[in-house]
Amino acid sequence: MSIRQEIDITIKAIADTFRFFEDLGCNGFECQATSLQALEKWQASAEYHHETLEVVRQDLGECQRCRLWKRRSYIVFGEGSPNARLMFVGEGPGFDEDQTGKPFVGAAGQLLTKIIQAMQLNRADVYIANIIKCRPPGNRTPLSDEIKTCLPFLHRQIEVIKPQFICTLGSVAAQALLQTKSPISRLRGNWRTSMGIRVMPTYHPAYLLRNPDRKRDVWEDIKLIMKELNI
Ligand code: SF4
Repeated sequence: MSIRQEIDITIKAIADTFRFFEDLGCNGFECQATSLQALEKWQASAEYHHETLEVVRQDLGECQRCRLWKRRSYIVFGEGSPNARLMFVGEGPGFDEDQTGKPFVGAAGQLLTKIIQAMQLNRADVYIANIIKCRPPGNRTPLSDEIKTCLPFLHRQIEVIKPQFICTLGSVAAQALLQTKSPISRLRGNWRTSMGIRVMPTYHPAYLLRNPDRKRDVWEDIKLIMKELNI
């Protein structure tokens, strides 16, 4: 029996029970605010709506919700394991990603792949996505309205995957997920929380290509994640 069928049967049983009490003359129950909050949270959860990554991708469609659709070649939705314990979140697609529809496949992506391999993992073990899913012209920084429009889809992906840890890459990803304006130099290397998930901000691999002396900092941040993953 599917989860959906089990939920339907449970709801019918509860409804029958309430009808029974109604027939006996009962016309209501006390419900505390905390109980109501728990019910609302459950109702809004991904499980209740049977959300999957496929459903999120379908809802995104050939998205034209912000101006970035006009010059994109492909939407870069994200890829990796839907059961990943660790998610990497970058800023947005660059030229190579826009051409292929895959995240982190250019020079910065190859460096990220090396970092993942240095963690004794493969790209297929983790999930890789970005704050926005279409390439900004000339690789400019995404604008706040573009981030605000696209971010709910990443939030839904995170809710489906439920990673134990998220590693944000660069300032845009960290600031958008953590809802802060703090610079990445201050955010990196310290555990934060977003959507109930532990988040480790670190520098973007593209920044490392320009500033190789920062690789040591990133490796320190990655080691903190490996420690929590027991690898
Ligand atoms: S960046 Fe996001 S919101 Fe904007 S068009 Fe692309 S998918 Fe849609």
